[in-house]
Amino acid sequence: MRITLRGVRGSLPSPMGSDEYQQKLATIIATALEKSKKEDNFDIPAFIRTLPKNLKYNIGGNTTCVEVQSDSGKIYILDAGTGIRALGDELMASEFGKGQGEISLFFTHTHWDHIHGLPFFKPVYIPGNKVHFYSILDDLQERLAYQTDFRFFPAPFNDTASTKNFIKLEIDKSYELEPGLSVRTIPLKHPGGCVAYRFTNERGSFIFATDVEFTGDYLEDLNTSTDFFNDADLIVLDAQYTLDESFQKFDWGHTSFTMAVNCALKWRTRHMVLTHHEPAYSDETLMENYREAVKHRNSMGKSWPRLHIAREGARFKI
Ligand SMILES: [Zn+2]
Ligand SMILES: [Zn+2]
Repeated sequence: MRITLRGVRGSLPSPMGSDEYQQKLATIIATALEKSKKEDNFDIPAFIRTLPKNLKYNIGGNTTCVEVQSDSGKIYILDAGTGIRALGDELMASEFGKGQGEISLFFTHTHWDHIHGLPFFKPVYIPGNKVHFYSILDDLQERLAYQTDFRFFPAPFNDTASTKNFIKLEIDKSYELEPGLSVRTIPLKHPGGCVAYRFTNERGSFIFATDVEFTGDYLEDLNTSTDFFNDADLIVLDAQYTLDESFQKFDWGHTSFTMAVNCALKWRTRHMVLTHHEPAYSDETLMENYREAVKHRNSMGKSWPRLHIAREGARFKI
């Protein structure tokens, strides 16, 4: 399966402001001028490829959305933050634009930042498209309809033309989505509730666990009650705060990057992606947090998990 991050910001969409853009630009230009003095045939695309990630990429301001494409080509979408809009636009160029598409959406919970892109997901509006909505909730349809009440949005969800199918998942039960691909879910500690999903194919497992507050005690309790998190190849995990912030924002429902590293070590995770970024953080601050997370892992005497900072467009394969 191929996993593509479509939205990585927590809580609220956070487009990059002009000040941050200009700072980034100034650093890139200064680096380019320096390099071009030393090279006769200065190649701009090659130079861009050599830039550090915080200069080469934008982390991105869209809220949570992850695309999972199975080996057979089917698409499964995790959460409908604003990152789902561009994905929907891309899908419209395929059979979804002709009303012949079929897609599955999985919801971790219904806080705004995980559903507020859905009214801008064009395939839902096209007659003939089939959309399957998975969650552990009895009332997912009612919640999604509520956000498009006429007082808040002009196009009611229940009037959209696609064919909708709501599937309630049972906790900790494994479901075969297609031959060779299964999904399993468990509840997480978060205000109002949330769940993690684990997708497994013949080669390994991918876990999506955002909007969760891991503390030492909770991690211990969870580890004694389930093997859900163990030995995954890839986990995309909530790491919204620094350690200091996680103490100040105790009970707000999110994890520090330090704790996220402790979790991955405990679970023997191979690759971990830090996500649900704090809206107020610049790309530079996020890269600093990432470097601190790597330092913390190294201080534990470990060279794994491989750590990654979530950014829009990043891809992983299992
Ligand atoms: Zn969230
Ligand atoms: Zn939440």
